Amino acid sequence: MSFSTLGLSSQIIKSLKERDYENPTPIQKELIPTIFGGRDIMAGAMTGTGKTAGFALPILQEIMKEHQEGKHHLRAVIIVPTRELAKQVHESFEVYSKYLPLKSVVLYGGANITSQANRLKKGTDIVVSTSGRLLEHIQQKNINLNAVRYLVLDEADTILDMGFVYEVTKVISHLPKKRQNILITATLSSSVKRLAEQILQRPKLIEVDSMGTSARNVKQIIHPVTPELKMELLSYLIGSKNYKQVLVFVRKKEEADRVGRELNLSGLKSSVIHGDKSSGIRARALASFKEGVTRVLVATDIVARGIDIPSLEVVINYDIPHVTGDFIHRVGRTGRAGKKGLAITLLSPNEEVAMRDVERLMGRAVERQEIDGYTPPKVEKEQRGARKNSNLKKRTNGAFGKRKNSSTPTKKKRKVTKRDGFKSLDANQGVSKKSKKRRK
Ligand code: AMP
Repeated sequence: MSFSTLGLSSQIIKSLKERDYENPTPIQKELIPTIFGGRDIMAGAMTGTGKTAGFALPILQEIMKEHQEGKHHLRAVIIVPTRELAKQVHESFEVYSKYLPLKSVVLYGGANITSQANRLKKGTDIVVSTSGRLLEHIQQKNINLNAVRYLVLDEADTILDMGFVYEVTKVISHLPKKRQNILITATLSSSVKRLAEQILQRPKLIEVDSMGTSARNVKQIIHPVTPELKMELLSYLIGSKNYKQVLVFVRKKEEADRVGRELNLSGLKSSVIHGDKSSGIRARALASFKEGVTRVLVATDIVARGIDIPSLEVVINYDIPHVTGDFIHRVGRTGRAGKKGLAITLLSPNEEVAMRDVERLMGRAVERQEIDGYTPPKVEKEQRGARKNSNLKKRTNGAFGKRKNSSTPTKKKRKVTKRDGFKSLDANQGVSKKSKKRRK
């Protein structure tokens, strides 16, 4: 299947050729015709699968049908969780619309609101925004939403994890009722399901083996390590394997700062991004990492989501994320667009339970490779059992729904329970009686 058989115009295809996109990715094959068909969509896909083009291309083409020369009416609103993703998605719209007379504007917090308002005043066909800043513009009456036909909630799970449900719901309440809604999520928590039930009408469910597309190309390894030796192992690995571009994930901001400092001290040029860094610092750190000026980028989960570094060689999980599903986001930073990738996890004994949750979620066990001098002493079975009762248990709700049992992948062979949850939102049953009532 080619882009032209999907019905995309020659102007759009020309822009894709310039980016060396030869064929549509699996998610694009599903999203493009469904968006053309006009149905609401709930798609299980993460960054790295080509999801952005999947929704951007058909939306651009549909907007062109109504376009009048020299006029710009806001037709599509794309809501994303972070500034980084906002910039990235906006850039994609710019690239794909290079040969179209359409305009897009990006909005996010931490930047001058007046200059954003001025850009909006000049007219735009597409807005890519974080929810909070979009709401501010709505409240300041800087934006006219009357002609909006498309709403995309990109990385809806992250939007909710970051606590933006109020802003998103508020923004949606200002949109025209008649519109097409596209919700993209990498994981399906109960809060994503609730949001889907609220806003989607008989959605088509699209799930393109969201783990598989990235994970197939990504080799995963766990190195068991004594907690005190983690930092040393991290620099040893980067140095001894001579990795040139490494993204290191760390759960906490302070820890990320510390890891960055230590790496620099050991001679590995690193920068750190997390929620407390200004958007300017984050952008510069990302740019110098992409250009190869810094060798290591240390990042916390939320800010790193959506970051697109096309040929990222290796991701290292310095620890296991708070939210099990974030592990999938982390691993998905490498092995993008069909390339090979490597994801290494440095695992201390106290993280074994959380890692098993991750493995259960991914439907596969990850190979353990011990490195001489770093491996912790073996943990007795009873001790492991005791840990099972810790609060880590709370995090075990899988990406695509709650698991029905708590067995580990090694105990039972039942594969990928995430699908169960996803299917339960099937088009015909997808809207609960309660929400049907609400709509009436
Ligand atoms: P996304 O999942 O939208 O963040 O895209 C991940 C990466 O894949 C980006 O670098 C895109 O430019 C690239 N990409 C998207 N679609 C294609 C395609 N059909 N062929 C090759 N690369 C693509």
